[in-house]
Amino acid sequence: MDFTVEPEFQKKLDWMKDFVENKVRPLEFIYDYDKDAAYDIKNKPLRKIIKRLQQEVKEQGLWAAHLPPHLGGKGFGAVKLTYINEMFGTSAFGPVIFGCQGPDTGNMEILAMFGTEEQKARYLQPVLDGDMFSTFAMTEPQGGSDPTNLRCVARRDGDDWVITGDKWFASNANHAEFMIVMTATDPDAPPHSRATMFIVPTDAPGFEIVRNIGFWTDSPNSGGHPWIRFNDVRVPDSARLGPVGEGFKVAQSRLGGGRLHHAQRTIGLVKHLIDMMAERAVSRFSGGKPIAEKQAVQTMIAESYIEYMQFRLLVLYTAWMFDQQEEHGAQGRKMISAIKAAMAKIAQDVTVRAVHLHGSHGLSNIMHFGELMAVALHEGAADGVTELHLANVSKLLLREYTPRLDSNLPSETTFIKKVWAEKQLKPILDELGLTFEEGHADTEKNPPVEKYNLKPVSL
Ligand SMILES: Cc1cc2nc3c(=O)[nH]c(=O)nc-3n(C[C@H](O)[C@H](O)[C@H](O)COP(=O)(O)OP(=O)(O)OC[C@H]3O[C@@H](n4cnc5c(N)ncnc54)[C@H](O)[C@@H]3O)c2cc1C
Repeated sequence: MDFTVEPEFQKKLDWMKDFVENKVRPLEFIYDYDKDAAYDIKNKPLRKIIKRLQQEVKEQGLWAAHLPPHLGGKGFGAVKLTYINEMFGTSAFGPVIFGCQGPDTGNMEILAMFGTEEQKARYLQPVLDGDMFSTFAMTEPQGGSDPTNLRCVARRDGDDWVITGDKWFASNANHAEFMIVMTATDPDAPPHSRATMFIVPTDAPGFEIVRNIGFWTDSPNSGGHPWIRFNDVRVPDSARLGPVGEGFKVAQSRLGGGRLHHAQRTIGLVKHLIDMMAERAVSRFSGGKPIAEKQAVQTMIAESYIEYMQFRLLVLYTAWMFDQQEEHGAQGRKMISAIKAAMAKIAQDVTVRAVHLHGSHGLSNIMHFGELMAVALHEGAADGVTELHLANVSKLLLREYTPRLDSNLPSETTFIKKVWAEKQLKPILDELGLTFEEGHADTEKNPPVEKYNLKPVSL
C-alpha cells in the first residue's frame, strides 16, 4: 500500500488547509460555534460572506468534492474525499462553504438516482449550486431506531397524496426549501415495503414547525433539528421520489455516503482534540514540570493518538471500498457500520480526555468543549445508534462462518489439529524420505479424530 498523496492533489490540500484555518474557522468564533448559523438563509450579510468564500472554493475546483463529474463534482473518489473532509473536523461552516454539507449530500444522491427530470431541475440543481438547503425527514418522535414503525402516513386521494403525521430531529427544516419525507403508504405490506418517499416544499399549506430543537448548548426553542408536523399536507403524485413502497430502498442508498462523510469529519475532530491536549500538556506545569512528563498524561495522549491513527486507517480503507463500488455489498456495509460505531467511541473517549486534561478551563464556558461534547455524543445516535451498527457488524461478519455441528470440540483442539497437520505435511516428508518422530503420529496417544465426533443432540 502506498499512502503517498499525488503532488497535484497535495497542492490542493495545502491550499485548503490554509483556507479552512484562516478564512473558514474564524466564522466559527464570530458565530460562537452556533452550528445552525451556517445554514441561516435569512442572515443576508452572512450569506454574502459565504457566497464569496464559496466562489474561491469553486475556482480551486474543490466545490462539491463528493460528487461525480456528471453531477458537477471533480470525481475525486472517496479516498481523496477523506483528506478533504477530515479538514472540516469541528467546522459547521466548512462543509457549507465547500458544498458538501449533510443532509444535502445524501439528498443530492437520491435525487440524482431516483428523481424525475422535473424534480432534478427544480430541486437538485439549486442544491448543487449552493442556492438551496434541504431536509431529510425519517425519524419520528415515538422512536428512530425502528423505521418500520412509521406513523407519518401518506394516503392516496385522486391524483394527489395527503401526508399526515410528525417527524423529529429533521435537521435544517427551519432553513430548508424542501424536505424529502419518508411516509408509511401501506401499513399491511411486509415491513420494508411499507414506506414511500415524497418531496415536500416547506411552504406547502399544512406544514408546521412544532418546535425548534437544538443541543444542550443552544438556547430553548432554537437549534437546527426541529420537530415538524404535516397537517394533511397535499402533494401531487409527481412529488413522489421513487416507486411506491420503495422508501427503504431510497433511504438505504443515501445513508452509506452520509456515514462515511461523518466519519471523515470525525478524524478531524479527534485530531483537533489531540492538538489541544498536546498544547495543554507541554504548557501546563505541576510540581515545576510540564504535565507532559507525567505518565498518566502521556498515556492519555499516546492512547488518543494510537486510536486516531487506527480510526483514520479504518476510514481510509472503508473509503477505498466505496471506490471499489463495494458500498452496497456485504463487505462495504460491514465496514460502514464499523466506522459508524468506531467514530462514536473515539469521539467520546478523546473528548472526555481532552476536557479532563484542561481541568477547570475544560469545564468552563470560555472554551467550546460543550459543543464538542455534544457533537461527540450525537455520533452514537444520529444515522443509527451504536448498538444497531455493532449488531450489523457482528451479523455480517458471522455470515462468513459455518456452524460446526458434527463435533462439540472446537476445530482448533490441539489433537484434532495435529492429525490435520500431519496430513498436510505428509507429501513433503514423503518427498524428502523422512518420517514424523516416534510419538508425534502415535495413534494411541492421538486416537482417530472420529472418536470425538458427536452428533448434535437436537437442532
Ligand atoms: C444531531 C442529530 C441530527 C439528526 N438529524 C436527523 C435528520 O436530519 N433526519 C432524521 O430523520 N433523523 C435525524 N436524527 C435522528 C436520528 O436518526 C435518531 O436519533 C436515531 O435514529 C436514533 O433514534 P432515537 O433518537 O429515536 O433513539 P431510540 O431509537 O429511542 O434509541 C435510544 C436508545 O435505545 C437503545 N436502542 C434502541 N433500539 C435498539 C436496538 N434495536 N438495539 C439495541 N439498542 C437499541 C439504544 O441504547 C439507543 O441509543 C438526528 C439525530 C441527531 C442527534
